Amino acid sequence: MKTIIEPFKIKVVEPIRMTTRSERDAILREAAYNVFLIHARDVLIDLLTDSGTGAMSSEQWSGVMRADESYAGAESFYRFKDRLTQITGFKHVLPTHQGRASERLLFELIGGRDKVVPNNAHFDTTRANVEHSGARAVDLPIAEAGDPRNRHPFKGNMDIDALERLIREVGPESVPAVFVTVTNNSGGGQPVSLENLRAVRRVCDRYRRPMFLDACRFAENAWFIKMRELGQRDRDVRAIVREMFDLADGATISAKKDGIVNIGGVLLLRDEELFHRASNLLILTEGYVTYGGLAGRDLEAMAQGFEEVLHEDYLAYRIRSTAYLGEKLLAAGIQIVEPPGGHAIYVDARAFCPHIPAEQYPGQAVVCGLYRVGGIRAVEIGSVMFGGPGRPPPKMELVRLAIPRRVYTQSHIDYVVEACLELHSERRSLRGLRIIEEPPVLRHFTARFEEL
Ligand SMILES: *Cc1c(COP(=O)(O)O)cnc(C)c1O
Repeated sequence: MKTIIEPFKIKVVEPIRMTTRSERDAILREAAYNVFLIHARDVLIDLLTDSGTGAMSSEQWSGVMRADESYAGAESFYRFKDRLTQITGFKHVLPTHQGRASERLLFELIGGRDKVVPNNAHFDTTRANVEHSGARAVDLPIAEAGDPRNRHPFKGNMDIDALERLIREVGPESVPAVFVTVTNNSGGGQPVSLENLRAVRRVCDRYRRPMFLDACRFAENAWFIKMRELGQRDRDVRAIVREMFDLADGATISAKKDGIVNIGGVLLLRDEELFHRASNLLILTEGYVTYGGLAGRDLEAMAQGFEEVLHEDYLAYRIRSTAYLGEKLLAAGIQIVEPPGGHAIYVDARAFCPHIPAEQYPGQAVVCGLYRVGGIRAVEIGSVMFGGPGRPPPKMELVRLAIPRRVYTQSHIDYVVEACLELHSERRSLRGLRIIEEPPVLRHFTARFEEL
């Protein structure tokens, strides 16, 4: 089989500013060892997130110029809405400025004190919005998800028995919705199978609970289903996507992922009454229902992005290029969450630096090391992100290398591999950290650290 090449040519380029290791040492100290506080111009390869960092296509940029900026009833809104209805089957489509705005609207309406929201694994903003409403966010991943070495093909699956136990324990009326995150971002970018989605649906039907998708990476998830699930290989990826959405009563989507845009989100609802209440709330805080806090050009870019993300040559390249990074690290003896995820590779920081205990944030130490060695910006997904006063310690200490869509080439990724290997060879010199300042919620964004 030949190399799966980037299925695009490059028309516009953006220079990368080179830095030296000693410059990066000073920059890191200045940023209090939190890479969120580093200026992007000081980063060589930015793998902080795949969110809003993708490269738009010439067709998307054409849409930006073509856009209708009318306050109400813009053509761009109808193109956006029709595209989403065509892909997902949902008739009620609300644009929002990003995923967390969809979450905030929804949980303000269905959350609240004494409510419990199960999920295979809540993403950080989803958990924060559930908790902000007063509700409790419960993660119910399958047991295999907690073992980085386990190569279960659908490690994003929800533990169906645990879901049923939870619903019985707290009472169905306390569960306003059952969420499934596709793919599972917090647990390694791992997919959820159709079989598992159908099983969640059956439990929801049994207890008459609505099922929602956190569908940020619905296309990547569908590709994994096509490649890995029995009897799915010959199906059109669009048919798989449609079946995923047909199972759900609603979905929150950040278009900054599989919408391949720099800003945008979607809230999909089946229930007429909930849709009207969400529309009123949208108007109150985001904007009128035909723009939802976005410009017409953003709606155009989303309409086209949601189409391009379903092209099978794109998905084959996307999933292969992520696996390429993962396989190179594994071959060099760096433990990652196996098998490689869709949008990111998650390095097992506990295995990388066993000499640093969880209280000294081994993931953050690796993040700092990668920046020093290669100017690479990654993100900690472990005790910094999920720990803190009153929270249980997370199962894994991970460092996420997220791959922006259509931005970096294979040689950029080869450079990332080289930097990871260099850091791995000097890993015993990595030092733990201490938090010296932190906000009450989502502390990883702004916390300040000190090296021990
Ligand atoms: C990014 C993301 C969100 C939040 O979306 P934003 O656009 O960043 O607000 C929610 N859930 C998952 C799984 C995500 O990856």
